[in-house]
Amino acid sequence: MWQLVHELIPTADLLCRRGLTVNKVCSLCECVDEAPMHLFVQCTFARAIWLGLGLSVSVDYYTADTFREWLQYMVKCLEYEVDARRWMSTLGDGLWTIWLARNDIIFNGKPQQPLRCVIKARKMTEIMAAIVDTRIQNGSEKIEINVKWDCPPSHLD
Ligand SMILES: [Zn+2]
Repeated sequence: MWQLVHELIPTADLLCRRGLTVNKVCSLCECVDEAPMHLFVQCTFARAIWLGLGLSVSVDYYTADTFREWLQYMVKCLEYEVDARRWMSTLGDGLWTIWLARNDIIFNGKPQQPLRCVIKARKMTEIMAAIVDTRIQNGSEKIEINVKWDCPPSHLD
């Protein structure tokens, strides 16, 4: 999240500015050059994720000049929501899921489906909420969570 706020996440535009030769086009939509504002806000893939997550503040409502401005605006709006902690987690999980989807295409060649990413992000939010709720209710540091692990593809052996 710190890298996002300071726009230091290694999107194609940043890598190009640092002299690396990379494909500039967004891997999720293949339409526009990749920059944080596009990848996390304007991309059709990102819009599908935010819609699926039901973020209470519309990502279309506010047009920021930079991703940092957009993120600050979103955080400020979510702070006043009734369940602010959960919405903040949803925002973070949505951003993280978009980043993972982007990386999965680039590094693993795996096509991504917004619905699957929405389910993944919601699961992250549920797990985080369960951790926080359990700690609050029990005052216990030991938490049991069922986690599904998938075996890596055999071609990586
Ligand atoms: Zn895109």
